[in-house]
Amino acid sequence: MAIHRYHHPMDGLMIHAGACDFCDHQGWLGFYLCGDQETIVLLCDECDTVYSSPLDKNRGNPTRLSDAPEYRVEALNVSIAGGRDATRAEVAAKGWGAYVEGEYAYHVKGRGRP
Ligand SMILES: [Zn+2]
Repeated sequence: MAIHRYHHPMDGLMIHAGACDFCDHQGWLGFYLCGDQETIVLLCDECDTVYSSPLDKNRGNPTRLSDAPEYRVEALNVSIAGGRDATRAEVAAKGWGAYVEGEYAYHVKGRGRP
């Protein structure tokens, strides 16, 4: 994948809205907090497909990311650079708790853990 994702330092979890259709379900559509520390999008951790919202995901309507280093979400004109995986609480605060399908734990086998 092209983008280095920053994972939440507290829990090492990616909260996701299910598997990604664009890469034959190889990746998860993770809720990702953008660089403005406010906007949350759905970002595939495998193919970098991005949706502006879970509604757009359900409509099969992805938006585009601009090239490095900006990585702007074109439909929202906000950059994911400087962002990180959103927490479950942040997703719930956005009103998208019902779209959470699961979570994926990074740092398996102790990697990245102190
Ligand atoms: Zn994908």
